[in-house]
Amino acid sequence: MRRLPVYLVVDISESMIGENIRQMQEGISRLINQLRRDPYALESVHLSVIAFAGAAGTLSPLTELMNFYPPRLPIGSGTSIGAALNHLMDCLEKNIIYSTPEKKGDWKPLVYIMSDGSPTDDPTQAISRWQQHFRNKAKLINIGIGKFANLDTLNKISDLTYRLDDDDIEKVYRTLCESIADSILSQSRSLGMESPISLNREILEDGTISLIKNKEQAVALDENYAIIVGKCSKVKLPYLIKYERIEHSPFDNAMFQYVGVYPVEKDYEDWSDHRPNYSKISTSQLWGCGGCPHCGAAFGLCMCNCGQIFCANGEKEVICPGCNETLYFETTSTDFDITRARG
Ligand SMILES: [Zn+2]
Ligand SMILES: [Zn+2]
Repeated sequence: MRRLPVYLVVDISESMIGENIRQMQEGISRLINQLRRDPYALESVHLSVIAFAGAAGTLSPLTELMNFYPPRLPIGSGTSIGAALNHLMDCLEKNIIYSTPEKKGDWKPLVYIMSDGSPTDDPTQAISRWQQHFRNKAKLINIGIGKFANLDTLNKISDLTYRLDDDDIEKVYRTLCESIADSILSQSRSLGMESPISLNREILEDGTISLIKNKEQAVALDENYAIIVGKCSKVKLPYLIKYERIEHSPFDNAMFQYVGVYPVEKDYEDWSDHRPNYSKISTSQLWGCGGCPHCGAAFGLCMCNCGQIFCANGEKEVICPGCNETLYFETTSTDFDITRARG
């Protein structure tokens, strides 16, 4: 039986924290269930999940649909599209069986790259590698989640590009899953014929999806959130504090409203970009803050001189989880600058 390899390449950058990553996780499970109900897909589809933030890696290697188990999605800092593309191409080189005159190999792989942000690395080299070696060997579908997704980078190498409107978050992920399932199923049924990749009318008429046809539509709006990374001073695990830009506040001195605080796992570091980050924000631009999602301490936005953000619960002294110095507290009204995550 010839395989139809499907690669889901998922953005797990900080901007996905909270509801987005939960919905994405559920969306992948729903997609698997839907595909499993189709006899053609069951016979041919093999699935792999690749994640990328600052770094890219495989969460699930290419596995037949029947034995596929949806992976846990981690979170990291950065949106390295170039790293994701390079990792994907390494996987294709290793795993895809190409046809030879004597033997039929795999069907042309389907690659879905999903992102909600703009690249934070330079993907030029990866894109030309794709153009030289993979352009005709795989089908690439470039999917933007929400208006902050920059689809421009991959637009020139993709077979299909579309954006999902993120006004209704549940609907977005339902449509995302439907559109992916639909294209996989139509490809698995038409195997043998070279059919172009497309979306069916029903899905397009739903209104959540807009097809990208020109460069202007591919460009993203400026992001309107800020994410601060903290570390619990008790359990030493990271957490993310998310702020959203208050509408109509000036761009040079934007004000941000507190949205929520989310725990992340130890592997946050492994998925993050380790280049120095010079993007600063002052606490005077931030409105409100939550406590620590790991230990329940009341204040999540304390800062050490070393730059580390950490949690405290009104104690007189705390050991900084960044530099291990003992800090003595007095309440201060002086504003300070903190480093923004890359998103
Ligand atoms: Zn804590
Ligand atoms: Zn410190």
